[in-house]
Amino acid sequence: MDSATLPASEDLGHGITAIDTGFVRPFFDASHLLVENGRAAFVDVGTSYSVPGLVAVLEAKGLRPEAVDYVIVTHVHLDHAGGAGEMMRRLPAARLVVHPRGARHMIDPSKLRAGAAAVYGEEAIVRNYGELVPVDPSRVIEAPEGHRLELGGRPLLFLDTPGHARHHLCVWDEASRSMFTGDTFGLAYRELASPRGAFILPTTTPVQFEPEALLASIDRLLAYLPAAMILTHYSRVTEIGRLAADLQRETGELVALGRREDGKRDRAAHLRAGVEELVLGWARDHGAPLPTERIRELLALDVELNAKGLEAWLDRDRR
Ligand SMILES: [Zn+2]
Repeated sequence: MDSATLPASEDLGHGITAIDTGFVRPFFDASHLLVENGRAAFVDVGTSYSVPGLVAVLEAKGLRPEAVDYVIVTHVHLDHAGGAGEMMRRLPAARLVVHPRGARHMIDPSKLRAGAAAVYGEEAIVRNYGELVPVDPSRVIEAPEGHRLELGGRPLLFLDTPGHARHHLCVWDEASRSMFTGDTFGLAYRELASPRGAFILPTTTPVQFEPEALLASIDRLLAYLPAAMILTHYSRVTEIGRLAADLQRETGELVALGRREDGKRDRAAHLRAGVEELVLGWARDHGAPLPTERIRELLALDVELNAKGLEAWLDRDRR
């Protein structure tokens, strides 16, 4: 891969680089490369199709694949961890760091693949994610609550942050006072930022959305007083207090919608329409600088996933 085909990347300072994984559309899904004293780690890696570009950015920074100590996945959803096995195949010294509940799915991705096929459809899996490569168990580090690692002497602390998924961890980087949040601190697509700042919305993807746990996890992240949250969708945000308040309010509105529509006929269609109305309203109130139709397109996938995730939560809640 020559420099002309390098994916878009942005230097965030403190040895952190955001790299576009190319999944879905530009600036939808980020991987973050962290470099300290010549040693490197990736936090989330997109899909198998993202891997050549991520390695090319690494090499463009003068680092060899052997310099990568860790491939960290915040959780095992495929837009974060689908490329982990392929990445590990290319990084001979790396170990995969994953939540204890996600580890077995990285070692044997067959259930993960079947689960994703149930949500997205089999054809979309092949087209969008490619091959899920198993990771040798000897190369896997399970990172429970409070786990600590050092990257070139730089401490990284792992937090158990359920709510979006039970296999979700966040990574506290004391050196930059940044929290790598995966999907726990929601989604902030850059196209929807306005003069008010970043636009944020929660992600309630199936099948493990748990609103109480999500709100508690957000509170835990805030307790570290981060200077920045670094989201997979998409990268760094800094107005933490305002964004956290937005996320808490929006999550409450999604939960209220779910409870209101639960038990009604055509619940799925009502939830879909209701989620769309909510997110378009939030974007409009925020002053997102795009026509409503364009915002509807940009958020269509998240509307779909959030509606399905609310259904999965309501069904689980009733059992
Ligand atoms: Zn996710």
